[in-house]
Amino acid sequence: MANNKIKIPFNKPFIAGKELFYIAQAVIENNHTAGDGPFTKKCQAWLEDRLGCRKVLLTNSCTAALEMAAILADIQPCDEIIMPSYTFVSTANAFVLRGGVPVFVDIRPDTLNINENLIEAAITPRTKAILPVHYAGVSCEMDTIMDMARRYNLFVIEDAAQGIMSTYRGRQLGAIGHFGACSFHETKNIISGEGGALLINDEKFVERAEIIREKGTNRSKFFRGQVDKYTWVDVGSSYLPSDIIAAFLYAQMENADQIIAKRNLIYDLYMKDLRPLAEKGCIQLPCILDDCRSNGHLFYIVTRSLKERTKLTEFLKEQGVLAVFHYVPLHSSPAGKHYGRSCGTLDVTERVSDCLLRLPLYYEMTQDDVRFITENVKKFYKKFR
Ligand SMILES: *Cc1c(COP(=O)(O)O)cnc(C)c1O
Repeated sequence: MANNKIKIPFNKPFIAGKELFYIAQAVIENNHTAGDGPFTKKCQAWLEDRLGCRKVLLTNSCTAALEMAAILADIQPCDEIIMPSYTFVSTANAFVLRGGVPVFVDIRPDTLNINENLIEAAITPRTKAILPVHYAGVSCEMDTIMDMARRYNLFVIEDAAQGIMSTYRGRQLGAIGHFGACSFHETKNIISGEGGALLINDEKFVERAEIIREKGTNRSKFFRGQVDKYTWVDVGSSYLPSDIIAAFLYAQMENADQIIAKRNLIYDLYMKDLRPLAEKGCIQLPCILDDCRSNGHLFYIVTRSLKERTKLTEFLKEQGVLAVFHYVPLHSSPAGKHYGRSCGTLDVTERVSDCLLRLPLYYEMTQDDVRFITENVKKFYKKFR
């Protein structure tokens, strides 16, 4: 049945400008392919400037940045971290690696972000941090979350893997909490294959962050000539990417505005074409609250049942369109049950996990591609309703 050729893939990595030229430059001209070379410095400066945060350190992934944040927040065994269950595994894993306990709360039915009104009930004397995940590049209610963190003296660590260059009340996602983590994985907006960044918004964590990222040594200080030899001073790992990766990434940054404008164009076209179906009550469309600007990271629809989603996915596949779903909620996953616990019911999480379908959205997609997909979604609902 569904082994027709895929005409429209779900995602496609892309070249936006001088990626390959800069890689050659890193190797041949700069003679620097290890970490913290000229391109890493350029990427970090670009992010600090554009996101308005105190310090940015490039990492191998968003996962690595979250692991660094867990060390910097001094997560100890049995410390609790409040987070949504509807997220990628790394949000929880980074803290479980330090012995922390993820405490899962439900999401809002509109933005699918952590429901800020459920956080306070989940706070205990062991709570150490709140972990907002900006799903689909749309901001969580950060004012409420920051307020609560201040009142209870908690860290706020933003999982901004999907949120690069999105804003909340004019502020960049990842630059609002104590720490933010970005991803440059090939499925995200700005890519380097694998890659990420830790955003540090408080000066007092900068020095320790540099040490943790350089295998627990004070090598960064040594390279700046601030100490005459470098040595092992703290826990750490190798969290810094090669300058070859940074070279690729810098070319993407040079084209970031154009990349995001293109994604938002595709997003808007999906919204316009599918609005009639939403008005009929067949599907739920994404929601961007007032005061938020999104980066067009992903486009999804929420169907009325798991059965309907399965049928629609198959129908699209027969037309050569690859649509996918995510996530298996962490609270119902084997590791989530073992390492974490839930607070309250997670009804919205479970429903969305069964019914959400992501439609293709990538840089090189054309308006005709979008129309082909939305026409087929409409055809499906006409046929099966
Ligand atoms: C992609 C993603 C991650 C992991 O990013 P990597 O760079 O692949 O480690 C973490 N959290 C969320 C919400 C993501 O979407």
